[in-house]
Amino acid sequence: MPFEIICSKCGTVLYLGFDLKSPRDVLKATNNKCKGCGANLNYLDFKVEVTEI
Ligand SMILES: [Zn+2]
Repeated sequence: MPFEIICSKCGTVLYLGFDLKSPRDVLKATNNKCKGCGANLNYLDFKVEVTEI
């Protein structure tokens, strides 16, 4: 099952993959910014979803 981390402000998928990652680690890779809307994000702002196929 793919795992998604989505910006809560614009809905951009910041991470999609099969490895479970913490939003904190994903944010570290993007300097705490959403690559879609450029907002500074806190990891608490993230929606973490597991998508069923
Ligand atoms: Zn965004």
